Amino acid sequence: PTVRELLASGSRSFSFEFFPPKTPEAEEVLWRSLREIEQLRPTFVSITYGAGGTTRDGTIRVTERVAQDTSLTPIGHLTCVSHSRDELRSVIGAYAGSGVRNMLALRGDPPGGPNQPWVAHPQGLNHAVELVELIRELGDFCVGVAAFPDKHPEASSLEADAQVLAAKAQAGADYAITQMFFGADDYFRLVDRAAALGCDIPVLPGIMPVTNIKQIQRMAELTGMALPKPVTDRLLAVEADPAAVRQVGVEIATELCEQLLAGGAPGIHFITLNRSTATRQVFQNLGSHVAS
Ligand code: FAD
Repeated sequence: PTVRELLASGSRSFSFEFFPPKTPEAEEVLWRSLREIEQLRPTFVSITYGAGGTTRDGTIRVTERVAQDTSLTPIGHLTCVSHSRDELRSVIGAYAGSGVRNMLALRGDPPGGPNQPWVAHPQGLNHAVELVELIRELGDFCVGVAAFPDKHPEASSLEADAQVLAAKAQAGADYAITQMFFGADDYFRLVDRAAALGCDIPVLPGIMPVTNIKQIQRMAELTGMALPKPVTDRLLAVEADPAAVRQVGVEIATELCEQLLAGGAPGIHFITLNRSTATRQVFQNLGSHVAS
């Protein structure tokens, strides 16, 4: 099924994000997690595309195997970074050839790193909206896009960000998944701004439980944004005890998901980092929300 059909079914969506592994050991960890997640019968799982387009083959391979060897519905991510239009067409063709009809169309971070200026491939695309158009031209695919409750680092304002989201929907995006964030209000503000621009596609909140202190640093680097102080304070208060950090991280994520679902979010997209334990705990904590 397409994610569009799954989201239209009316029940809440629960999905999980993985990245393609680089070693045989990491491959084992990934598949163990995927099998555990499969038992939760999620709406879909998604497989990321490495920074700089480096994991193209790994992403296609994992996505294809999920499509063929599991009961899960996979979404393959795809970025414009360092790819010509022809290369992008061939990746889309490879997904289609392996039975993957769901794609997440992204620009990707600048090839020089998240804090460098964006440089498009000379024969490539400049913005995600162009990739949405390209995928749409090539067939009857279901296309998701990125959205940013805390504002994309390069965007001039929250309003500009909402306009970009609305333009992606206009170009044919079926739904959006957000960057990770920690304030439910920030999510609803984005959804309201987009709605005021006539954009009513489902926006799935991206949630990552922080399970160790090092992740705080890494997330700030990845998203260009520090975690809110109340969140870091709660985690740092138990810094000396890794098990407690993990527990508090799961609690923070559970509270956020509860606020989002109570406020009408159409589901939750969990970022797993290929380890399923913390996200499964949050999912299980959500209990009755999951059933409705
Ligand atoms: P765009 O929509 O192109 O936006 C990029 C910037 O350009 C924004 O500041 C936007 O405001 C601005 N902009 C957009 N359109 C226009 C326009 N027409 N005119 C002027 N300005 C414009 N990265 C990976 O490398 N691999 C992944 O698998 C991956 N998965 C992700 C999954 C999710 C759910 C999210 C939220 C992000 C993911 N990313 C991934 C990161 C993403 O590629 C970066 O955040 C990237 O910097 C922005 O991508 P985008 O698709 O939103 O780009």
